[in-house]
Amino acid sequence: MTVDLIDYHIHPGYSLDATGSIEEFCQEALKRGLKEICFTTHFDTDPLRRRIDPFMIVDGRQVPLEEGLPSYMQEVKGARRRYEERGLLVRLGLEVDYAPHFEDQLRETLSGIEVDFLLGSIHCLEGVAFTDRREYERCFQRKSVREMCKSYFENMTSLVKSDLFDCVAHLDGYKKYGFTYYGKKIFTAHRDYIEPVLELMRYHDLGTEVNTGSLRRGFKDFYPSNEILELIKEYGVKVAVLGSDAHHPEEVGYEIKRALESLAPLGLELTLPATVMAERG
Ligand SMILES: [Zn+2]
Ligand SMILES: [Zn+2]
Repeated sequence: MTVDLIDYHIHPGYSLDATGSIEEFCQEALKRGLKEICFTTHFDTDPLRRRIDPFMIVDGRQVPLEEGLPSYMQEVKGARRRYEERGLLVRLGLEVDYAPHFEDQLRETLSGIEVDFLLGSIHCLEGVAFTDRREYERCFQRKSVREMCKSYFENMTSLVKSDLFDCVAHLDGYKKYGFTYYGKKIFTAHRDYIEPVLELMRYHDLGTEVNTGSLRRGFKDFYPSNEILELIKEYGVKVAVLGSDAHHPEEVGYEIKRALESLAPLGLELTLPATVMAERG
């Protein structure tokens, strides 16, 4: 199979922290030679964050997630029909925030939602978002770098065991502000915790994303880092998708080619999630 340029992690203006219409993102993707994109608007339902997170922007108005979801789904499906003949496959997905304390509710909610792709993410510890500029200090000040990584990978263990997702997003996404807060220690802090998680990912046939958003933040590696990608190879975990984590149309496909080209030297290849492959036949 020849591998096309794909971008499976895109936030259109439905996400609270993003701008740009579905149409603008598709236009930009075509212009950049992408063959396949998947919209993954945020789907954050942590009950500890019910006043902050569970919303979407529809026609410039902030509405509860469940109210906005049908508009989002309908618009992406419409784009899929319009762009298919122009050589761009547009998929419908969600980036779903996960933590063990609301897994049961999440399972229930997701069972009623039909999309092509569910990207599983951990953005918060005990309801505080370490991926948010306004909250990361409050999250990290409670923990040493080891304690933080221990909690993160404990939650990741539950995420993998949940079997709710098609792929894991930004596996070392804690380094986004973790580097700012803890310094260089953050780059090795996974070492005591990650290997059992990778073992479990292989067992559950859950692949990882290679996310290029890290380069926009000045890191030299992707999420996950090269050191983790080497372990991913060693443990036989699949690289399921590439994602730019675009939040504005001009970020679509950002450094995706570089991400794709980085795989072979590490002995890795892009496989796409099993659910997506099944649909392709
Ligand atoms: Zn994310
Ligand atoms: Zn994202």
